[in-house]
Amino acid sequence: MIVFSDLSALFCDIRHEVKDLFDRMDQAYETAAAGYGFVCSGCADNCCLTRFYHHTLIEFCYLHSGFADLAPERQASIRDEAAAVTAAVAKDEALGRMPHAMCPLNTGGRCVLYAYRPMICRLHGIPHTFVHPIQGKIFGPGCHEFDNRCGTAGGHPLDRTLFYREMARIEQRFRQRAGVTEKIKKTVAQMLAAAGERLS
Ligand code: SF4
Repeated sequence: MIVFSDLSALFCDIRHEVKDLFDRMDQAYETAAAGYGFVCSGCADNCCLTRFYHHTLIEFCYLHSGFADLAPERQASIRDEAAAVTAAVAKDEALGRMPHAMCPLNTGGRCVLYAYRPMICRLHGIPHTFVHPIQGKIFGPGCHEFDNRCGTAGGHPLDRTLFYREMARIEQRFRQRAGVTEKIKKTVAQMLAAAGERLS
């Protein structure tokens, strides 16, 4: 069992590294998106409705470090919403349906913890590549909205390779220091429902 309170002090030591990495991801995304002339806004098929799983302890801790600064009442209401979303997603999955529940951090179209959002929330939407250690170079397309608006536009896919590698390096180092070996596979709703309690 992984207890978050055991990790928060340890995470303070590497928090700046995660922030720096995420800042560089945001900049690279902006540059690549601008190259296609793509602006992510006003989309009906909001990606905050997509069930994404997150797999790193450092994303969990970073999200929680922002969550911890919210007022207690706000935390309580978000955690209630996170529990409801988690239950709705589990029900859809049990029925074999694709979950379509809004992330509990999306309020009025805005992310309450935008500065602390996980990696995929930062990188989703535009074409990308990465070099897989075994499969070689892999290409990933943009989202539907990107195709609608910029599918024929010229531009350069965002290369995620260095970001993935650096993320893996920080994660590995943090896990070694924390003595954590358990795998993580959680939605944002599950991470928030677990905040302050246990991770697995
Ligand atoms: S964390 Fe923020 S950006 Fe990511 S899905 Fe939730 S509301 Fe959207």
